[in-house]
Amino acid sequence: MSRSQELFERARRVIPGGVNSPVRAFRAVGGEPPFIARAEGAYLWDADGRRYIDYVGSWGPMILGHAHPAVIEAVRETAARGLSFGAPCALEVELAELVCELVPSVEMVRMVSSGTEATMSAIRLARGFTGRDRIVKFEGCYHGHADALLVKAGSGALTLGVPTSPGVPAALAAHTLTLTYNDAGQVREVFDRMGDEIACVIVEPVAGNMNCIPPEPGFLETLREVCDRHGALLIFDEVMTGFRVALGGAQARYGVRPDLTTLGKVLGGGMPVGAFGGRREVMERIAPTGPVYQAGTLSGNPVAMAAGLATLRLLREPGLYERLEARTAALCAGLEAAARETGVALRTQHVGAMFGLFFTEAERITGYADVTACDAERFRRFFHGMLARGVYLAPSAFEAAFMSTAHTEADIEATVAAAREVLAGL
Ligand code: PMP
Repeated sequence: MSRSQELFERARRVIPGGVNSPVRAFRAVGGEPPFIARAEGAYLWDADGRRYIDYVGSWGPMILGHAHPAVIEAVRETAARGLSFGAPCALEVELAELVCELVPSVEMVRMVSSGTEATMSAIRLARGFTGRDRIVKFEGCYHGHADALLVKAGSGALTLGVPTSPGVPAALAAHTLTLTYNDAGQVREVFDRMGDEIACVIVEPVAGNMNCIPPEPGFLETLREVCDRHGALLIFDEVMTGFRVALGGAQARYGVRPDLTTLGKVLGGGMPVGAFGGRREVMERIAPTGPVYQAGTLSGNPVAMAAGLATLRLLREPGLYERLEARTAALCAGLEAAARETGVALRTQHVGAMFGLFFTEAERITGYADVTACDAERFRRFFHGMLARGVYLAPSAFEAAFMSTAHTEADIEATVAAAREVLAGL
């Protein structure tokens, strides 16, 4: 029995499914997960000493690669001065100032400890600000696991939302409308019918939780326009896209300005950090300046702030995002070429340093229905073939993949070579 298998067996006795977040258990692809012992640059090493080229990057945060020396040093130095104060500290101010400078629409920001907390708080703030209960989200987008957001569409877009998990009250889900991603016409129709009851629209400006799906031209602009017309707030959930698809996030890339933005992942550089921010007038409604309550014992934690600050400062290097994007494009092109050579129908899509692989004949993938129509069995076999050759992809066909500044051309060539072998055997 390998060390990973041994650990997984022990884990399953004391942790539900053996994991602290479900997708890590490999249920979508079968098999058992390697347990990770350490990570550096573009690589992970498992508990049995096997090395993997990592395209998960802790699900997004590790844009500089793992254990970047400057980030580790910042954490080490800060930790030595105390792990948590529960009182204000300078690092919080520095990170908040940097976020306000980098993210176009953010004038004020509140730190939290996860993406889930960020979106949950942003929704509460939007409801508190507008005095309305209804929210709009899109099928296939994930915004963390707060009750209001674990909701799918009823039998049609204009019906009541249905909880996607036991434990979410139907009465609460009823306030959530779930629409089709990239369907601007449907958004207009819903706003024509009940726009004045809608507190906010929350959207992943590039969808990364149903593989990788860019917004169609005009989609984000339509959201901005209907929200303005009906007095609803537009929330960009940039937990994944923030500091990932551009230094200023998707809002900088696409030039659409949301009222509120949620952040996480890269913002914490691998430490547990989330944030929500936006227009001053809206953010001032949060306690203690306003009546909308939100708080956190470990919010603004100095060690986490230090990791985030070190990360964002490094990301300001001129040309860094262009390089990342070029590398992502090169990998995607290499994989598509390998698929053509081996006669496998494979499409890729990428935005900045996030990308997705789709086993499909379809030319373009624009929403949840397209993703669910892809060949899941092929993905499963591809995933395991790559894992066996030392390439670590997300263990689900519904997840985006991530490039880091630590991935070299040699890593990309090795990945494409592994893919050529695996594809040939599919
Ligand atoms: N929003 C988006 C867009 C996400 O991708 C995620 C996590 N994958 C979340 C929110 C939730 O963040 P967390 O897992 O830190 O709670």
